[in-house]
Amino acid sequence: MHTPSNQQSTLPWQEREQHLLASYAMHSIDSEGREHNEPHHRYRGPFQRDRDRILHSAAFRRLSGKMQVFTGDMGDYHRTRLTHTHEVASLARTIGRTLGLNEDLIEALALLHDIGHPPYGHCGEDALDESLRHEGGFSHNQFALDLVTHLEQRYTQYSGLNLTREVLSGQQFRSHKDQAATPVLEIQVVDAADSIAYDAHDVDDALKLGLLDWQQLSGLALVERARHLVPLDQAEPERRRQLLVHTLIELQISDLLEQSKRILEPLEGQTSLDVQQEGCRLEMTDTFAADKGQLERFLFENVYRHPRLIQIRQQAAERLRELFDLLLHHPARLPDRFQTLASSWGVSRATGIYLAGMTDRFCEEQYEALIVQEIEQGADWS
Ligand code: MG
Repeated sequence: MHTPSNQQSTLPWQEREQHLLASYAMHSIDSEGREHNEPHHRYRGPFQRDRDRILHSAAFRRLSGKMQVFTGDMGDYHRTRLTHTHEVASLARTIGRTLGLNEDLIEALALLHDIGHPPYGHCGEDALDESLRHEGGFSHNQFALDLVTHLEQRYTQYSGLNLTREVLSGQQFRSHKDQAATPVLEIQVVDAADSIAYDAHDVDDALKLGLLDWQQLSGLALVERARHLVPLDQAEPERRRQLLVHTLIELQISDLLEQSKRILEPLEGQTSLDVQQEGCRLEMTDTFAADKGQLERFLFENVYRHPRLIQIRQQAAERLRELFDLLLHHPARLPDRFQTLASSWGVSRATGIYLAGMTDRFCEEQYEALIVQEIEQGADWS
């Protein structure tokens, strides 16, 4: 299936994949293509082109202004959605390269995975979901698909980025994980890298911001594993934090890789489609999965529900709700592009799309301009 019928016409990226990829990797030549057909590029494979389209999209650039867990008010050290995205891409590519999978597909999926996030992270998502409850709600995973299939304007002939079906189905898998069939291995790798990255980096950011202290981490199985491996207790605090985070990632990636190799070894010779149809899942060992679950429960209780974060989140959610209500009842205040969108998507959806695209800072400015100043001037919106 991966051997081109005519060696003369083998493209450089096709040849490269024949040399480097395992049989069960998603080979670019087997892609099911795009909604709007395009001839192959001479030196960039289809997934490389997808990666570039995502990288150059407006939604991707806005990730630098969107919080991951912590907001700009808490300093400049912690991750934004953009830095998180690059960290996920980096981890996922390492895993993919080691397993002989398609790094271009992995990178495209990683760069895409969070572009649908509205301002203020998950609290922004919850606020929009509530405001749009009569319109089917809001989810950042679905919004990422809306962005790349309809809302991004790049080509004169059609809306959206015209990505390959493999990249779109990777994002669809994120939207419907519970009911989804087994995805290709590259999608699974990005999913695992995302989870490993945010757990470890949330520990890092929370320690740095003083939301966590070292005593609280004692006894967590993954932290104790790290302590056995590296001299955590001898290091001064700043180095200790970096050493811990690095080791947490190293431990989990190593376990995932070793386990994945065991799973994949007997499947050599099978294609991407074969292993997908057999339901092949790349997973950590049960012990590591349990330890990771323990760390996640700990983060949920001690970081994501920290009073400082809850207060910021409530404020942010309230801001979005007020803006939504104002714009819904006064759609003439929407920018022209979103008034046009309202004619096909409806006013609620167009308002949601406008708000979801905002960076945290722009949302604050709009709140200041539309709500605060008008209240001060005694505006009557009724
Ligand atoms: Mg993520």
